Amino acid sequence: MSEPSTSVLTPVLTDTWDADRSWKLATYEDAGGYAGLRKALTMEPGDVVQAVKDSGLRGRGGAGFPTGMKWGFLPPPDGGPRYLVVNADESEPGTCKDIPLMLASPQHLIEGVVITSYAIGCHHAFIYVRGEVLHVYRRLLAAVQEAYDAGYLGTDVLGSGYDLDVTVHAGAGAYICGEETALLDSLEGLRGQPRLKPPFPAVAGLYARPTVVNNVESIASVPGIIANGADWFASMGTEKSQGHGLFSLSGHVVRPGQYEAPLGITLRELLDLAGGVRPGHELKFWTPGGSSTPIFTADHLDVPLDYESVGAAGSMLGTRALQIFDDTVCVVRAVSRWTDFYAHESCGKCTPCREGTYWLKQVLHRIEAGQGTEGDLDLLLDLCDNILGRSFCALGDGATSPVTSSIQLFRDEYEAHIAGGGCPFDPSRAALFD
Ligand code: NAD
Ligand code: SF4
Repeated sequence: MSEPSTSVLTPVLTDTWDADRSWKLATYEDAGGYAGLRKALTMEPGDVVQAVKDSGLRGRGGAGFPTGMKWGFLPPPDGGPRYLVVNADESEPGTCKDIPLMLASPQHLIEGVVITSYAIGCHHAFIYVRGEVLHVYRRLLAAVQEAYDAGYLGTDVLGSGYDLDVTVHAGAGAYICGEETALLDSLEGLRGQPRLKPPFPAVAGLYARPTVVNNVESIASVPGIIANGADWFASMGTEKSQGHGLFSLSGHVVRPGQYEAPLGITLRELLDLAGGVRPGHELKFWTPGGSSTPIFTADHLDVPLDYESVGAAGSMLGTRALQIFDDTVCVVRAVSRWTDFYAHESCGKCTPCREGTYWLKQVLHRIEAGQGTEGDLDLLLDLCDNILGRSFCALGDGATSPVTSSIQLFRDEYEAHIAGGGCPFDPSRAALFD
């Protein structure tokens, strides 16, 4: 059987992942790495910011906020420090793009850090990496050292007169520390809990100084934009969702993994590349961007995976974590497991999320256990109503997405659990709850 065409792919961040010792500086340089930095250092910092604005790059951490515009929110220099903080605390369920990127090609990120820092006038940048991924932390430390040794970091970067230090910091494993202001508190040595916004970090961030917080993939995309030009990046993707992005396919697919493609590709096209849903089974539901985005079904296979189209279809592009569930999966069980995660990770700062996720978990557990009552679906929706839009940060809102969307799309399956006294898919599991 012939392999599906990969011509739709745009390997930019992933171009050297298959190379021998892809993570080494020499491999990156052999493939043209650091050309973007050399070019950036010949440009005015403001022109670098303008190029990123012109490229249309939008935050790849999930929210899709225009990256260049965010940099432009920094107040004019006042002689004090300003910071770049890379959010490498990837932990949204199903999301697994930044960790492989940092493992396979950490210099992509480091070159992006130097160019971005130069553009925004920062002389000390931080990479805040998720604490559990010790191997990534170690790889980043080694890669940063290689960059120092080669003159890409430290005093007088490449003889330009520009100085930059980079600190790699390992978090302690709390999902909430991926929220940018909780991350800043954690970096300052405090308990990680979201701050009130505004002020946004651009105005008062790390140590109350102007700070840009960007996702790993966003920053790693910057060298290509500078080296190849804003038009090159903007020529990929759709009119309002430009450029390339990593699409992470996991679950019941033949070849799970990272597929780097222009925004606007569809799941049907990606599944074609990934060998499809595992043989003998059919697609039942999927997440377009991690568990905090409303779920989709086979009816959404042709929705272009860009911010606008996914939004118009009732979900969010989020982190492009495409978790594929086939017909063997009980949707109530999957949603219940995600809800356990949110209840566990809720930081406790605000009542709607702290109490609401706990009660969502309780009700879902009893439905799963065959002890649900007739009013439970209305109760779940009412709980979601009281969390959504009333929580302090996006974690609470995100926790409601799988619950409301799954009830909307699979209400009959919930009702079958309640009417049938347990999971209709798996009699052996239902028996566990007798
Ligand atoms: P947000 O829309 O509130 O903010 C996005 C970014 O834009 C932030 O950096 C914010 O500071 C900036 N911004 C927004 N308005 C601004 C303004 N007026 N002035 C200056 N800056 C402004 O989204 P968020 O709460 O930061 O993130 C939510 C997203 O995070 C979700 O969509 C989800 O997909 C994603 N997420 C990702 C992970 C992961 O592991 N990568 C985990 C959880 C959630
Ligand atoms: Fe904490 Fe949840 Fe409130 Fe966010 S929504 S501040 S995670 S309790």
